[in-house]
Amino acid sequence: MKAIRIHEFGGPEVLSLEDVPEPRPAAGQVVVRVRAAGVNPVDTYIRGGAHAVKPPLPYTPGLDAAGVVEAIGEGVTRLAAGQKVYVAGSLSGTYAELTLCAESQAHTLPRSVSFAQGAGVSTPYATAYRALFQRARAVPGETVFVHGASGGVGTAAVQIARAAGLRVVGTAGTEEGQRLVSEQGAHDVLDHTAPGYLEQLAGLTGGRGPDVILEMLANVNLNHDLGVVAKGGRVVVIGSRGTIEINPRLAMTRDATVLGMTLFNASPQELASVHAALGAGLEAGTLRPVVGRELPLAEAARAHEEVLKPGAHGKIVLIP
Ligand code: NAP
Repeated sequence: MKAIRIHEFGGPEVLSLEDVPEPRPAAGQVVVRVRAAGVNPVDTYIRGGAHAVKPPLPYTPGLDAAGVVEAIGEGVTRLAAGQKVYVAGSLSGTYAELTLCAESQAHTLPRSVSFAQGAGVSTPYATAYRALFQRARAVPGETVFVHGASGGVGTAAVQIARAAGLRVVGTAGTEEGQRLVSEQGAHDVLDHTAPGYLEQLAGLTGGRGPDVILEMLANVNLNHDLGVVAKGGRVVVIGSRGTIEINPRLAMTRDATVLGMTLFNASPQELASVHAALGAGLEAGTLRPVVGRELPLAEAARAHEEVLKPGAHGKIVLIP
């Protein structure tokens, strides 16, 4: 089968399309025929070799995909060949025609959700869900500020929060992005490139500030977040691409909490809970992954360049 392989860590040019043996499922494993593979910023960090997760070389990248179960190993009871699934993590990598998964990594994808959309479920939606409910413990009626709402995690967070009865304010850096955030269900949308945009938050939240902030670029925004979050508020650091100086007094005077998170730290029980919730949302139609761009598998290098550029409007997916 065709798969993208990485023989050395480095820039996008290290991604090459090659012929590799087809995976076979051992006990408790399934093989999924990939119809679309999701591209996430983390795939580029891992490829660069500087991420905490450092796979042995050579490897096939990719954590997310959607497709059809091709074969199941001994003892697999939850899935059957022919079933439409989305993949949340993979043993062999998802940038390939076939991917090998543990049974627990494949989840039913409703008929109403396309394969391209399914490839955009796992990392973005699981991250958004975990940030909102397992880390920030958000409850209906609270206000969440999605700081960076136009990307994969942001659009997921807006949909999840809106469906759960939270008041949602999101940001984007372009007009198109702002429209997208509004379409996903945000009650109010701000432009994170406009001077003084955070001053509008107080007005939008009755002077209190948001109870929860989901932060996509903490190295730029964390200190500002601590200046606008509500008393007793929680800021979840989802994304950060550098360092920042903060004034701890801002957190002190608000009894505010800064929470880190990475999806890789979620326990199997927490992940099972996350995917049960996501499955329900996909089935009900409250969760509708936004696909921005479909590229052929062979163009993985281009996808890795595009995924780090500003102005994201939905997921980039690779089609084998
Ligand atoms: P993405 O699709 O590329 O989206 C990036 C988002 O950041 C866009 O909404 C972008 O808005 C926004 N942004 C750009 N400049 C900003 C600013 N000054 N202030 C606030 N937001 C700004 O990426 P993603 O997949 O959603 O991931 C977002 C971040 O979370 C990435 O850094 C990723 O590595 C990280 N992440 C972490 C975890 C975890 O487990 N902790 C999991 C998944 C992702 P515009 O393009 O409209 O300007």
